[in-house]
Amino acid sequence: TQTVCAPLAVLGRDVTVPLVTGGEVTYAALDYAASAPALQRVWDDVAAYAPYYGSVHRGAGYLSQLSTDLFENARRTVAEFLDCRTGDQVVFTRSTTDSLNLLAGALPAGCEVFVFETEHHASLLPWKDARVTYLDAPRTPRQAVETLERALADRDPYGPALVCVTGASNVTGELWPVRELAAAAHAHGARIVLDAAQLAPHHPVSVRDLDVDWVAFSGHKLYAPFGSGVLAGRADWLREAEPYLAGGGASRRVTRRADGGVDVEWHDSAARHEAGSPNVIGAYSIASACKALTEAGFDALVARELHLIDTVRAGLAEVPEVRILSLFGDDAPRVGVISFVVEGWNSSHFAAALSAEYGIGVRDGLFCAHPLVRTLLGSDPGSQGECGAPEAAPGEKSLNAIRVSFGAGTPDEHVERFVTAVR
Ligand code: PMP
Repeated sequence: TQTVCAPLAVLGRDVTVPLVTGGEVTYAALDYAASAPALQRVWDDVAAYAPYYGSVHRGAGYLSQLSTDLFENARRTVAEFLDCRTGDQVVFTRSTTDSLNLLAGALPAGCEVFVFETEHHASLLPWKDARVTYLDAPRTPRQAVETLERALADRDPYGPALVCVTGASNVTGELWPVRELAAAAHAHGARIVLDAAQLAPHHPVSVRDLDVDWVAFSGHKLYAPFGSGVLAGRADWLREAEPYLAGGGASRRVTRRADGGVDVEWHDSAARHEAGSPNVIGAYSIASACKALTEAGFDALVARELHLIDTVRAGLAEVPEVRILSLFGDDAPRVGVISFVVEGWNSSHFAAALSAEYGIGVRDGLFCAHPLVRTLLGSDPGSQGECGAPEAAPGEKSLNAIRVSFGAGTPDEHVERFVTAVR
């Protein structure tokens, strides 16, 4: 199983870190859900391009034309990766958070938004100017669809509405019934955006098959470096919206008016929302990662990941103090993201011990999904800043959790070390 995904070799596998007990070990990166390591292939592609990069779009020189081609080809590669429809736009953004905020700014007047309380804050919070209905956490995928259908049934079917839903939870790793939710949304005249931040690195995402209107994801979770993301989908709302940023690149023509002001004609294309000099290397890195994943094939990746999931879940099941957090139950299909609490342990201390004593990098906290983690823990984490959580007093319920996550390039040894450490 370890060689199946050889084309998806990742950087940082020989990094050693000191142990508090003395000596050092190779770092076991088990926090892919936050940021996955970059693929060697992405790094190589960027290194090969770096000496040639130049300004995009307006440069007349050869290297400017080369960079412009690479940037626009990256858009096409992403459109293919997501199996977009003819006429869909691919906008390069900074991240999933950025993509969803962009879409939030493009909602038609009077748009209603429907979002489950279980979402990551990036999906939960950007809809500030809309009338938002927060849906209760479902306990089965079927219940998710029924909850959405009930909520949509009451609305005016002729007014604009948007459903925002995650493809795979960044807390439980569980897959959501995206196709069914999209069908429910469309049956009630609503549109749907898929937060694929955790789905796209693990499963193929087809805009066409899932029949979602938009998809958002981040490069740094898809084996590319930080700083770039994607919003892809229907062009109409994006074309009619105010530009996300005002400035050069987004404007086609700017003229001085007789009364002294200026008139602006904005682009109708993706450029409308990409003002300023774009992150060409970021877009190129995402495209490189998309190609690598497509070439390696998701079947191999999924098979490898299921093996890693089984190892971790079987290992954790042997420790009676461990409770895995789940909305949909043990049999739910999931990606390699597993959160848990350990009775008698403060999760932050536990995660710190995994790092200091075993060289294992996991995450602890509420994972920017406070309402979901609160529901799963059955506790009220109260108001903690950022994504952290206060310490539980001895004997109290955990106020936060530990998350282990993995994917391409994760060797068996990392998850085995993790299981041994937890034991
Ligand atoms: N949605 C989900 C499901 C996520 O897991 C994350 C990142 N943890 C985001 C959105 C936000 O991604 P980014 O921080 O790259 O904007």
